[in-house]
Amino acid sequence: MKGSPNLHSHPMSLERRHLSHVKYLWRDEEANKLHGLDRLVYRSNMLGADLTLTNTGGGNTSSKLTERDPLTGQDVEVLWIKASGGDLRTAKGDGFASLYLDKVRAMKSRYLSSAGRGPKTEVEDQMYAMYGHCVFNLNPRACSIDTPLHTFVPYRHVDHLHPNAVIAIAASVNQESLCRKIYGDDVIYVSWQRPGFDIGLLIESLIKENPKAKGVLLGHHGMSSWSNNDKTCYETALEMIEQAASYIEEHDRGLQTFGGQKHTPLSEHDRKRMLVEILPFLRGQLSVTKSVVATVQDDESMLRFVNSYDGFRLAQLGTSCPDHFLRTKIKPLFVEWDPASADVETLKSALSSGLSTYRKDYQQYYDRYRRRDSPPMRDPNPTVVLIPGLGMIAWGKNKSESRMTAEFYNGAIEVMRGAEAIDDYEGMDPQEAFDIEYWSLEEAKLRRMPAEKELERQIIVVIGAGNGIGRAAADRLAKEGAHIVCADLNEGAAKQTAQEIIATYGEGIGVAGTGISNCGPAIALSCDITDRPSVAGVLESTLLAYGGLDAVVVTAGVFFPPDKSGRIEDHQWDRTFAINVTGTYILADEAREIFTRQNLPASMVITTSANAIVAKKGSLAYDASKAAANHLVRELAVEMSPFVRVNAVAPATVVKGSTMFPRDRVVASLIKYGISFDEKESAEDLRDKLAAFYAQRTLTRSSIEPEDQAEAIFLLVSKRLSKTTGHILPVDGGLQDGFLR
Ligand SMILES: [Zn+2]
Repeated sequence: MKGSPNLHSHPMSLERRHLSHVKYLWRDEEANKLHGLDRLVYRSNMLGADLTLTNTGGGNTSSKLTERDPLTGQDVEVLWIKASGGDLRTAKGDGFASLYLDKVRAMKSRYLSSAGRGPKTEVEDQMYAMYGHCVFNLNPRACSIDTPLHTFVPYRHVDHLHPNAVIAIAASVNQESLCRKIYGDDVIYVSWQRPGFDIGLLIESLIKENPKAKGVLLGHHGMSSWSNNDKTCYETALEMIEQAASYIEEHDRGLQTFGGQKHTPLSEHDRKRMLVEILPFLRGQLSVTKSVVATVQDDESMLRFVNSYDGFRLAQLGTSCPDHFLRTKIKPLFVEWDPASADVETLKSALSSGLSTYRKDYQQYYDRYRRRDSPPMRDPNPTVVLIPGLGMIAWGKNKSESRMTAEFYNGAIEVMRGAEAIDDYEGMDPQEAFDIEYWSLEEAKLRRMPAEKELERQIIVVIGAGNGIGRAAADRLAKEGAHIVCADLNEGAAKQTAQEIIATYGEGIGVAGTGISNCGPAIALSCDITDRPSVAGVLESTLLAYGGLDAVVVTAGVFFPPDKSGRIEDHQWDRTFAINVTGTYILADEAREIFTRQNLPASMVITTSANAIVAKKGSLAYDASKAAANHLVRELAVEMSPFVRVNAVAPATVVKGSTMFPRDRVVASLIKYGISFDEKESAEDLRDKLAAFYAQRTLTRSSIEPEDQAEAIFLLVSKRLSKTTGHILPVDGGLQDGFLR
């Protein structure tokens, strides 16, 4: 065996040999406890755990296993293969489809006898529909469209992967000769062909001709390894990747990578300043039909690419692996400008003209390569924007998707780096790329995706998210799919809310980016709403984390319990107004800047109070501040129209979970209303007592919970009330005195 003599002579000693480019994760003590499908799950997880081996959601594994047929009770051979749309890293047993092996293999004669068969023919797509007839044990999971790449390999185990190092060879101009040079006879070479029966049968016949082959290199796509021993199959995959990566490393161009550096990087300060300026602008431009969410990457490796001499040329060649460009589109927008000026206006005009050229190009690409029955043109906007000096901004329908886009373009860059080191990079043929992008089976995959949640594409800042109404609002909005920036004076409390959201809804998929942009569906920030720099800082962090801003919810508020004469100190009066009125004004003022740059519909929801219109003794400062807040809502609604709606909820007596009802205030209220209680009762019990009393005063006899406010906030933020602005929605159980007039 040329290239890697060790694989033959010591197949089991791989673990001890030096693998510097891949992680050897297989543990016999783990694997040997497992059988059948569980071992396949284990192998898949070990492969998926190392991103060097394959991208998120990419690649698939299979095992041909003996199972008991539920109908006949006889042993049958079953092909277990990763289901369509699953991910190797996180796959469990239910992430695999199961097919009767003899039935799937019987599809071969059906395929061969079909007139008009061949790659990219209707016959291929009809074959995919036939898998339904092969399902073993009523398993509902749809098998991968790569199934023929596994079925016809005459070995029990197959690992099909998309490693950047191997794709670098597969995306080189001289890919076939490089494959021979690096792997000798161990690896078969097959030029690019869309996955299907045709290529599956081609691989089958090539294996017959080269019985010693351990794997295949798939041009412009990836690789597979195979063996009758699952551990050997895993090790062969690692070995193939290690060899490719070592070969690339030997030819690494060092400082001359991507032709060397054309632009001097901007300072971190300038980079952040410019990103904050252009992110909302760019998001507005890209969100014309549907809003998108960003992942920013400005680490060293990304800056090396965008600042290089060859970056622009390579980006125009398009990405090479079909898995990459389904996310990244065939090519990114590479903005032509000189970062030396660090001038925002210059960059904005470069972005605008770049975008309009990109859209025209995309229209031309569609018109030129479309088929008679192609689905209609998709969004012509780029999903990857590369800016010299600044880095990459990747976009998706939510954070998880944009991280995935970013991950895939990182993969594309790695492929270009490798291919340019060892040879010349070659993008995918545009007609082939188009046929994949608009392939009916890919379209079907998109349609199988779960429906979008109502606020999936939204980015919402919740001020006061650490407790009470703010926390309930953060949860409610997150449930609808919104990205939540949990801001609170108490950063620890904000963190807790964010962590709970992440624990409930998951971090999402895709691995990319650094710094604040490398986040999940929620982040936590400390915010003093009375301090303009603090507010501005929260909004800047929001932009860097998610790329824009759709709504701001203010639930922060303060109430100083008065002394026996009903007074509070002057500084407390000032603080009451600072938090309950001025803070909201500052926030609106800072957010307005962003909303204007973004130029998309946006919304603010403020929390005032029933007290705003009910004059009574004992809470002069609080009530006056809330009355001012009510009018601030109207003023802001006028000022911020037509794009920004400004509304408020007016709660009354939300006692549960509120920092505004500490024990002594509750006790004072109980005494005031003549409700008997025991000093030894817990604060929670006393609060319940007070809440029950308040409930009796309402027309609906209901106690008012933070969740009730959250529901109203959700309605006001959402498009459901998109025609309402300048209004205050009482959520108080019905208080006659609190009726607005
Ligand atoms: Zn593949």
